[in-house]
Amino acid sequence: MQHILDPDTQLLDAWVTQQRLPIFRAAQIRRWIYASQAESFADMTNLPLELRKELASHFQWWTTRTAAHQKAEDGTEKLLLELADGKKIECVLLRDGERRTICISTQVGCAMGCVFCASGLDGVDRNLTSGEIVEQMLRLGRLLPADERLSHIVVMGMGEPLANLVNLMPALAIASQQEGLGISPRRITISTVGLPTAMQRLAEAAVSYNLAVSLHAANDALRNKLVPVNTKSGLTPILTAADAYFEASGRRLTYEYVLLGGVNDRREDALQLAGLLRGRPALLNLIPYNPVAGLPYKTPAAETVEAFSSLLTERGINIQVRRRKGSRIDAACGQLRRTKA
Ligand code: SF4
Repeated sequence: MQHILDPDTQLLDAWVTQQRLPIFRAAQIRRWIYASQAESFADMTNLPLELRKELASHFQWWTTRTAAHQKAEDGTEKLLLELADGKKIECVLLRDGERRTICISTQVGCAMGCVFCASGLDGVDRNLTSGEIVEQMLRLGRLLPADERLSHIVVMGMGEPLANLVNLMPALAIASQQEGLGISPRRITISTVGLPTAMQRLAEAAVSYNLAVSLHAANDALRNKLVPVNTKSGLTPILTAADAYFEASGRRLTYEYVLLGGVNDRREDALQLAGLLRGRPALLNLIPYNPVAGLPYKTPAAETVEAFSSLLTERGINIQVRRRKGSRIDAACGQLRRTKA
């Protein structure tokens, strides 16, 4: 059975044509899938009963099962989804004022091996299909009341998005198309640990998604230890590829820096980071570490975060210290999956 969320844009149109149905039926079906809270083909009440049955016998809609659902007091909700092959992934809904942001995964596990991250502890299992990526968006969207819509997407969950660009791009196209979720590309952010070749491909794709590059260290010696994939390229090609994406897309870049107590939060780290980013039209997100059970890294003291951010601000770097949301519900990616493995 085909997955109706697999965003082969021709798939549904071709089937509708093959069934000798008027083409407007495809648009009607898409509206039910992407712009309503419908849960099954049976809910598509403006379609003839026979057509609803035909759809159900030809297409699979949901391929995942919600294995766990956690809610935090600040409105953050996290889903642990079990895929058809039994593997598990996580995705999150964040509420912030009017914003309804979702954080989605692109792989089962992750091969990048960042030493402080729960998602990468067991390596990567496989890439998610485009349909599985879209399904996370729909599952999270259906946690909202009928009068609310998703407003932003961050691709920052499990996995390295640019290692699965081939499946991510069609999924994000569905997210941003009017007949899909209708979320402007400018409200979609792809986060990467920095894979220069894939970043270059993204620049050539002429898309206007936001790009967030996770640095976590300002020199290769420390970054090689914290983000082992760095040994393949080093920082310079990553920053060059990021600059090229900015040139191509016109979208201001974001750099992410997780502050690990006593590891990368020293005065010299801040000064090196300032040197690296000076003159680049970018925003730097400083993220005090969210501890992961079984890993030795600690959240830095509030005074250390303050001193680190002041040093950068004084040197003209545009920074923001990111509040942690949903920290009571294992919100660091990969944690819920590990506790329910
Ligand atoms: S931080 Fe991101 S890139 Fe690094 S291991 Fe975790 S999921 Fe992968």
